[in-house]
Amino acid sequence: MTPHRILVVGAGFTGAVIARELADAGMRVDILEQREHAGGNAFDFVNEHGIRVHRYGPHLFHTSNMQVVEWLSRFTEWLPYRHRVKALLSDGRFVTLPVNAETAAIVGLENVIDVFFRPYTRKMWGMELEQVDPSITSRVPIREDLNEFYFPDDKFQAIPKYGYSALFNRMLDHERIRVQLNAPFQPGMEREYDHCFNSMPIDEFFGYTLGDLPYRSIRFHNVTLPLPQALPVATVNFTHDGPYTRVTEWKHLPGHGYPPWHTTLTIEEPCDYRANNNERYYPVKDRGGLNRDLYRRYAAMASETMTFVGRCGLYAYLDMHQAVSHAIAAASKFVARCDAGSTMR
Ligand code: UDP
Repeated sequence: MTPHRILVVGAGFTGAVIARELADAGMRVDILEQREHAGGNAFDFVNEHGIRVHRYGPHLFHTSNMQVVEWLSRFTEWLPYRHRVKALLSDGRFVTLPVNAETAAIVGLENVIDVFFRPYTRKMWGMELEQVDPSITSRVPIREDLNEFYFPDDKFQAIPKYGYSALFNRMLDHERIRVQLNAPFQPGMEREYDHCFNSMPIDEFFGYTLGDLPYRSIRFHNVTLPLPQALPVATVNFTHDGPYTRVTEWKHLPGHGYPPWHTTLTIEEPCDYRANNNERYYPVKDRGGLNRDLYRRYAAMASETMTFVGRCGLYAYLDMHQAVSHAIAAASKFVARCDAGSTMR
């Protein structure tokens, strides 16, 4: 029997995991990636000072889903790492985030929303706190204990030992996977294939006929200082009204390089995606659900031979472990459908 020919659009976590699962199941997979590299927003590189930088902002792997950990561990070893974040107050003090009992005692529980959430959310989302869906801010819950970690409850927290880019190279190294870089999807390409898993923005695929789905983007500003270390922890969030949300110092992450006299930091400046070369990072989950409604109308237009997946295909705020878990599920469902012999065209 001729193996199924599959097109995957996008070589981020979602596309790469689906491609690998389907290739392992005997299918032939072509991946189209419009950027010059695979890895999606998890892509990392080592800069001229020997420091590993995540080009699209810090990616800290954390999950309690051990199936996902097991799956990825075929392609990487890990360095344990528990992320710590401090907020910088207007008086220059650093306090722990998520807000714990100590932080609340320092700023006063009644001030927590106005100090830590209101200005940050305004600059991050370009909206008032009240306009953003509560599930966004509940990612950073206020705690009554003295826990100092950003992801206090996840069972597994680690960084791929040789970086995310190396993890992707291993994942995509398969005789039935072909990756084309600098290759944007063109309408009609899917017709050469039995099925397409598409992680491109769904509104773009449909030519924006129903309107645009909003996204936030981030401008990343990298600076290297002639200092052994600049920050007390890996990430410092700003509480001020300026344009920047946070700064990350890469040397705090294990395996990210230890040059004695230099340190590289990345400062994040959120903006609308159209102001940043159409780089879509965060789907915008508004409290009224209007964007979700628009997404659903687009999703209803998809044909049987195309599955929209990933952050931009599902219009969902997915952490890495969630993207991997969804991708494994989408691939397994497809394989089961093929095994059951249903028609795919
Ligand atoms: N947030 C905030 N202040 C902070 C950190 C987070 O107001 O210091 C809110 C903000 O709306 C942000 C959301 O909580 O977008 C989720 O934060 P998280 O750190 O999970 O964002 P990510 O790392 O995904 O960008």
